[in-house]
This record gives sequence, structure tokens and C-alpha cells, in this order.
Amino acid sequence: MKCPFCRQSNSHVIDSRLGKDGEMIRRRRECMVCSRRFTTYERVEEAMPMVVKKDGRREAFDRLKIINGLKRACQKRPVSMDAIEAMADSIERGLQERGEKEVPGSIIGEAAMRELHDTDAVAYVRFASVYRSFKDLNEFMAELEDLLNQRSNRATPKPPRKAGTPRKVRRKSAGAGNPPTSAPSGSESA
Ligand SMILES: [Zn+2]
Repeated sequence: MKCPFCRQSNSHVIDSRLGKDGEMIRRRRECMVCSRRFTTYERVEEAMPMVVKKDGRREAFDRLKIINGLKRACQKRPVSMDAIEAMADSIERGLQERGEKEVPGSIIGEAAMRELHDTDAVAYVRFASVYRSFKDLNEFMAELEDLLNQRSNRATPKPPRKAGTPRKVRRKSAGAGNPPTSAPSGSESA
């Protein structure tokens, strides 16, 4: 950081404090050459990653779109605008923290689901049922059951439920002459 008076870059920080909005740090510096003092401000770079759509198109991150989606899910529910804004903030922060230039759109949808999940059960199910278009009713019910369990056990949170049954341990067959059994190629749909 160059001194504005003598253009030398040797300075040391004599004081740092958070700005009023909490989003900026104000530093008081003293030039080690001319001893004059000056102030610098430091703020987080607020560049948002581009959102990659399913068809490969890129879109600029749109906070309003997220707010609107959350609002739709929370329609006629006891969820304040402040709460909706807070959810959007949290989603936005999450994306920034990834530190990537591009993120798949699905990440935003999943983040919105997590936020709604912790805010309002009905809004969550509304959003999730539309967003995720559940593959079958069982999946939907399992999801709902999880949600209800979590709500009633708020004080003692359960560890996350593992999906599916435990995988069988495949033992190597020692049968001589048998061709090695090749595992079926995984064809899980993404
Ligand atoms: Zn100076």
C-alpha cells in the first residue's frame, strides 16, 4: 500500500476497526518513511459466481429470483420478509464461500431447500416437491418423515439418515476356474 504523501510502500497498521456496516475494515496506517498517517479500507470482494443452467447456458446470479422463489414457497405462511431476506443472504454467502467462478444451478436449489427446511415445514415441502419432482411417493414420504422426526427431536438432533440399505460386502470367490465376477456397472441416474 503506497503512502499517498511520499509514494513509498513501507507502512504499518496502527489501528484496525470494523466499519459501521460490519462489511468493511478501516485501517489506520503510518508511513515508515515520512511518518504521515493515512487510512485504507478493505472489503470483501462481492463477485458472485455465474450460474450454469442444465442446458449449459450461463446466467448471472440473480438474488431477486431467489427471493421470489422463497416468497412463493412461503406464501400464506408465517414467514417474515426479514426471514426470507436472511435465507437469501445465507444462500448468497454459501455461494461466495465456495470461491468458484461458476456453480451449477442445482446448488442454489439445494441451498434454498436447506434454508426452507429449517424455517417452515410447509414451505419446505412445497418448494421441494416442485423443485425436486420426487421420483416416487416413497422418497417423498421418507423425506417428510425425516422432517417430522427432526422437528419433534429438535433438542436431540439425530445423525443424518443414511439412504438405502447397507451395502453388502462382496467376498472374493476362491472358486478356481470361475471367471472373476465383475461388478455390475453402476448406472445410477444423477
Ligand atoms: Zn510517506
